[in-house]
Amino acid sequence: MKNISILGSTGSIGCSTLDIIAMFPESFRVSALSACENIEKMEAQIRRFKPAMVSLNNRQAARMLKDRCSDLDVEIVSGVEGLIQVSTIPEADIVVSAVSGSAGLIPTLSAIKAGKTIALANKEAMVMAGEIVTREAEERSVRILPVDSEHSAIFQVMECGRREDLHKIILTASGGPFLKTSHDERKKVTVEDALRHPNWNMGAKVTIDSATLMNKGLEVIEARWLFDVSINQIEVLIHQQSIIHSMVEFRDGSVLSQMGIPDMRIPIAYALSYPERLDLVMQRLDLSKTGMLTFEMPDLKEFPCLSYAFDAIRIGGSMTAVLNSSNEVAVRAFLDGRVEFLDIERIVGDIMLKHTVTPVKDIEDVLMADGWAREEAERMVGNIS
Ligand code: MG
Repeated sequence: MKNISILGSTGSIGCSTLDIIAMFPESFRVSALSACENIEKMEAQIRRFKPAMVSLNNRQAARMLKDRCSDLDVEIVSGVEGLIQVSTIPEADIVVSAVSGSAGLIPTLSAIKAGKTIALANKEAMVMAGEIVTREAEERSVRILPVDSEHSAIFQVMECGRREDLHKIILTASGGPFLKTSHDERKKVTVEDALRHPNWNMGAKVTIDSATLMNKGLEVIEARWLFDVSINQIEVLIHQQSIIHSMVEFRDGSVLSQMGIPDMRIPIAYALSYPERLDLVMQRLDLSKTGMLTFEMPDLKEFPCLSYAFDAIRIGGSMTAVLNSSNEVAVRAFLDGRVEFLDIERIVGDIMLKHTVTPVKDIEDVLMADGWAREEAERMVGNIS
């Protein structure tokens, strides 16, 4: 029996994680849950999964939840302290880090410091502070198991080969909804257009990131830290069908890939059950019905966010945090209708240009860069809207 704590349980990854837990009640138990402010969904999750502790970021929502769950034996906490309590609760063996964005950084680090195995869906923590996060994990012999489908694929492939034989990692990308949309047409896309991902059903932030290819850029940085490879060993390949979730080329030229239907419950289940595999009862991959699998190089001129991510990790220091935080502000502003779709890449590019890189020795350095980038990005949004 594994005890599991979920950060971000009402989001897309959180709900899929609970789906898996519900399928295997003899293998998993929920210790604690956290969310931002979705009271209804959280109450239903508490009644179904009976966690010992629940945190809502919004304090007023937490008070309302407490009233609604007064008949239940659950401790309800709130705010950042609450999130840290959920990530360090003694009962949990695994912490699923599925908070969206930079809000996942501190709780993920707290869970690592508490010695929890991490099932990592929050790529932003790695983008902002990959060196610190991986160092802390190594010092405590904490395993970080990837949930992101591409990184799960690489992780699974690496189980079949020796680390020293790895030549390069090939991250596949669906290309998002605007792969074949001209630059002029992309100027006019609406929030609704951008939220319509062709293959994956995900949260709003990651869906917009997929449409700009920033998501792939963040994944490149995540892969660099998770697999301890040089940035020159990572390539991105557009594969629109999202059947091959990523590949590894070994030194002899052999390329191994992991395939499956695009369903996040598969990589989530593997992270929870590792090193075992579960008998998942769901649709199976049927290659005879899949049709053509296609591959092409990404167009970095059309999708500059991807090249900004390569730039940021090559420059290093505070630049990856600046990339991430300015993108978060720009995506939020787009979702709120304050800027246009192409303003996202403009804001990120301009703020990176403006940034004077500083070394990142500890988390305070990261938070300083984060704060600076947010302020600059907000100012730019204000000027545009
Ligand atoms: Mg992914």
